[in-house]
Amino acid sequence: MVLAANLGFPRVGVHRELKFALESFWKKTSTEQDLLTVAKDLRKRHWTLQRDRGMDIIPSNDFSLYDHMLDMSCLLGAVPERYGFKGGLVNHDTYFAMARGRQEGGQDVVAMEMTKWMDTNYHYIVPELTKQTQFALSSNKIFDEYQEAKALGIETRPVLVGPVSYLMLSKSYDAGLKPLDLLAPLLEVYKAIFAKLKTLGVKDVQIDEPCLATNLTADEKKAFETAYQTLGNQGLNYILTVYFGGLRDNLSLALSLPSAGLHVDLVRGSEDIDALLAQAPKGKTLSLGLIEGRNIWKTDLNRALAVAEKFVAARGGDTVIVAPSCSLLHSPVDLDQETKLDSEVKSWLSFATQKLTEVSSLRDALNGKKDAAFFADNQAAVGSRQSSSLIHNTAVKQRVSALTEAMKNRKNPFSKRRLAQKADLNLPLLPTTTIGSFPQTKEVRHARAAFNKGEMNQASYDQFLGECIQNAIKIQHELDIDVPVHGEFERNDMVEYFGEQLSGFVFTKNGWVQSYGSRCVKPPVIFGDVSRPAPMTVQWTTYAQALSPRPVKGMLTGPITILQWSFVRDDQPRSVTCNQIALAIRDEVMDLEKAGIKIIQIDEPAIREGLPLRKEDQTSYLNWAVGAFRISAAGVEDKTQIHTHMCYSEFNDIMDSVADMDADVISIETSRSAMELLSAFIEFKYPNDIGPGVYDIHSPRIPKTDEMAFLLRKALDVLNPEQIWVNPDCGLKTRGWAEVLPAMQNMVAATKILRQELAAEQKDAV
Ligand code: GLN
Ligand code: ZN
Repeated sequence: MVLAANLGFPRVGVHRELKFALESFWKKTSTEQDLLTVAKDLRKRHWTLQRDRGMDIIPSNDFSLYDHMLDMSCLLGAVPERYGFKGGLVNHDTYFAMARGRQEGGQDVVAMEMTKWMDTNYHYIVPELTKQTQFALSSNKIFDEYQEAKALGIETRPVLVGPVSYLMLSKSYDAGLKPLDLLAPLLEVYKAIFAKLKTLGVKDVQIDEPCLATNLTADEKKAFETAYQTLGNQGLNYILTVYFGGLRDNLSLALSLPSAGLHVDLVRGSEDIDALLAQAPKGKTLSLGLIEGRNIWKTDLNRALAVAEKFVAARGGDTVIVAPSCSLLHSPVDLDQETKLDSEVKSWLSFATQKLTEVSSLRDALNGKKDAAFFADNQAAVGSRQSSSLIHNTAVKQRVSALTEAMKNRKNPFSKRRLAQKADLNLPLLPTTTIGSFPQTKEVRHARAAFNKGEMNQASYDQFLGECIQNAIKIQHELDIDVPVHGEFERNDMVEYFGEQLSGFVFTKNGWVQSYGSRCVKPPVIFGDVSRPAPMTVQWTTYAQALSPRPVKGMLTGPITILQWSFVRDDQPRSVTCNQIALAIRDEVMDLEKAGIKIIQIDEPAIREGLPLRKEDQTSYLNWAVGAFRISAAGVEDKTQIHTHMCYSEFNDIMDSVADMDADVISIETSRSAMELLSAFIEFKYPNDIGPGVYDIHSPRIPKTDEMAFLLRKALDVLNPEQIWVNPDCGLKTRGWAEVLPAMQNMVAATKILRQELAAEQKDAV
């Protein structure tokens, strides 16, 4: 008999109950008990829902108050020293201090680092390892939650991150220590966890080892062998769980490990199918991830069934499980909440709750109990999506297929454009600017909410926005910022604002997905060919330009970022969708130029995070991503200056692609690790202009003039003075004016000091 399994369910709740419970607990408007009650109710609701949707195998310990990697660090006792943990069990106070830092009672302890979970938009808390790290079983969460479900009559399969991925995703804070050096002591704790799970009556465990879907070094491969040979089977069945990509060259390694079963992602790793059919030992259970856990489209069930049938035919149903490709953590909870969505588009979608039914319907079909009506509906929806007139726009398709290499190239190389821009813009050395947004104050957010609810009419809202822009321009003049911006007061979100004005997008009301901790995002859905019916930013940009004698910088979000932060259609390559968006942005760029805007910034903060997990896939991604950016930017005259902006990631390893984007100016997040970014420029001579951020906008601290002057001198050590711009490291929308004003004052002051120093040096040289 084939079984249906789930690997993880979204934790936050269909109405983001966990988010609100956490935030009110942090604000001390509710108690720890209140928070724990909400959490317990959510777990119960989700377990019951999974059972009702037909899951044979239901996960536990997939729930988390903040993050599952943080939970692992607590389970394993990997608590950094600064949190004062003295052994025993990690309490919630310590847990949240690790997640968010602690600033109370004279204490000022920083949070642990957070980074993206593989190639998703979910962020995990990075384990911090040192030679002092002493692993010890330090949390009962995994045991308690198993028993909590059992008390409800639900047998669950506890989930934990496997030892090798845990270490590979950790960071060592000791020069001489590689995380994998700690494998042996770590395995002792895993053994203890297994032993305890076994005494509780657990039969199956899900061990997540997503790093098996990445390129492994010889040492890492060895670590997998050591780990799983040491763990043996411990009298427990465990399913080694791999997702977010295929196993490829790690396939025989994964199959050779002594696990009872192996879960594979057959959506992103469909290239493994034949090898798995040929090589998987008969006794090993194969869990087939056939339902996409990271996107929102209905599965083509006939296709998935055909794949699963091959496995059942080859091995018999008793060693086959059907499942989502990965945890459903990355899907919104329930499509039934979307009462306002276009009904045709809605019929193509499936959220976490609906995906469970897809999984169980596959299981039933494989066991000879096919629900013919359900499959027929599914095929009708899949067919309607293929042929719908909502999706297909011939003009857009023709434009994309008519793209030429020439459209990716500016008319002249940077060395020539530079002169044209210099003559036209007449900016001082070390020009100052910002990244685009100014504080989204309470007033700004209230006005937008009132406008969206229909309580404020268009005329009054426009009037309000106009005043915000006037104020921002006035402030920038007073600060003596060389390249002002309008401030982005009209934008809720840098992707949503554009998505709402482009064809081919829809927005859900409740399609929230956890980003980190209590933070959720609601990605737009790109369902069809993308086009731009009308200009999107020309009105407010030209409004601002009319208020200033200085060149006002226009602000756009780039095609890769729009793609990366949306749910993207899966019926054509991402590169094609990206090119469609690029053409829409290109039109906007041209319209801004026509309207007299001389400087246009196209933000691409997400370019790095789109990088595929596997090295062998990265070049092709970088090619089309850089190409799409160039399409969006390259239509303008030499004298129009194109800027781009990047943040959130380390760019050192893709610096040549960043240079290849050929923006005239790039501003880049650095201030938290200024030296690290600048070190890249010692070896790599960045060809165009660059503004390494000198003000860390993520911190409420106001940087001093001296500090910023110091950073600028550092930049001058590795870059040419003619190349350098001065700017904060990201948009200022999350800050208040009370911080922004003094910070900007100091930034301009630091710039002027450096200009003087440079002028003095020049005199000396003469
Ligand atoms: N222009 C945007 C802003 O300033 C850029 C935001 C970002 O990089 N994430 O808000
Ligand atoms: Zn940024």
